[in-house]
Amino acid sequence: MISRIKGTNDIIEDSKVWEWLEEKLKNVALNFGFVEVRTPIFEATELFNRSVGNETDIVQKEMYTFEDKGGRSITLRPEGTAPVMRAFIENNLSSKGLPQKLFYCGPMFRYERPQAGRLRQFHQFGVELIGSPLPIADAMTILLAIEMLKTIGLDKFKLKINSTGDEKCRPSYVEALKAYYKPFLNDLCDDCKVRYDRNVLRLLDCKKDAKYAESAPKITNYLCDDCKSHFDKLKKYLDDMEIEYEVDPAIVRGLDYYTRTVFEFKYPNLGAQDAIGGGGRYDGLIKELGGAKVPSIGFAFGIERLILALEEEKKLPEIEGLDIYIISIDEDQRIEALKIANALSKYFKVDVDVMGRNVKGQFSLASKENARYTVVIGEEEIKTGLYTLKNMKTGEQWKVRLSEIIKIVSGSAETEIRDQRKSGDL
Ligand code: AMP
Repeated sequence: MISRIKGTNDIIEDSKVWEWLEEKLKNVALNFGFVEVRTPIFEATELFNRSVGNETDIVQKEMYTFEDKGGRSITLRPEGTAPVMRAFIENNLSSKGLPQKLFYCGPMFRYERPQAGRLRQFHQFGVELIGSPLPIADAMTILLAIEMLKTIGLDKFKLKINSTGDEKCRPSYVEALKAYYKPFLNDLCDDCKVRYDRNVLRLLDCKKDAKYAESAPKITNYLCDDCKSHFDKLKKYLDDMEIEYEVDPAIVRGLDYYTRTVFEFKYPNLGAQDAIGGGGRYDGLIKELGGAKVPSIGFAFGIERLILALEEEKKLPEIEGLDIYIISIDEDQRIEALKIANALSKYFKVDVDVMGRNVKGQFSLASKENARYTVVIGEEEIKTGLYTLKNMKTGEQWKVRLSEIIKIVSGSAETEIRDQRKSGDL
């Protein structure tokens, strides 16, 4: 047997929950005027080197990079923002006016060590608000994320925000951080020893070296006036909207392209992998990729982690079973049963036997699939056009026409029909 690759999942039974979840998230985005964008799952490797950054963990260790048959270096996308910005530039979306409000949903690939909540192919739902430098755009993005979490039923999330400054003020902070960590350099974990030179901000969110981070200089004390004012306004907007948050100077996010606002959503009881989503502002990214200077902000949720959080809270939705199972008494009615199933499937979730089961077998399958109703089709039913409809919960039965089946199952006529039946009209 050939097994699936380590760190990947087959989504089979859960696919209904996934559909439900993606639909909910999508609807919130659509209602806020965002449009779906679907980019390829592989891109030129250069895109991620330039955007995520050569010195980041993702580019250094985690990318699925290969040469295709034409000798090009290709990478399976490790994240969604860079591909969306590439598409924004390539399709000249700025000519359509700003802001551009885009969302995406799909698989991402990172060669990380798999563990609970951490996969090598995982899925993200992400949103990008492209074009506004103003803190109100940050507020809208965070509000949208919160609305999504609430819509799917999660409310115990913790929002952590920070500002990572910009090209004016970050260099002096990086210097201060280097000076702070220098005396401990030999005691740091192997990864952090490398990060010290390459990407010292990442030392702050290393779990192994967390004790040093506590007393490290705080970026919020190094922000230039513009960055400070941006951050203060965002905090005020969040306060005005009564959105709870914690300013956490350790939130730096691993990617090079972030400027100013960064944020993460943590969820309790998920263990080490407790970030259900995160995002931030990336004012320089589009220019870095060859476009104009278009300030933007976005975030992404990890779908698998949202599902873990829903499981943890016992908030997974009850996915409804079938509306109607159509039963044929013997082989002669199979094709009629299929036609009726087709007619009813325009309104309801239906199923019909294709295994040649006898009537008893079909009824037990109907129960197993939690069908609310069954329609039985025999010779007599075909002749008269009156089918036996049975409410599987109450056991009530009616001999009715197709149009009445539609009314009854949709709930608009059951009581009416029951009354008529009592009075002898049916
Ligand atoms: P990031 O931009 O790396 O913070 O990713 C955004 C979100 O995607 C995270 O908050 C997680 O919920 C999710 N995520 C990131 N990496 C993984 C992974 N390897 N496996 C599962 N989910 C992930």
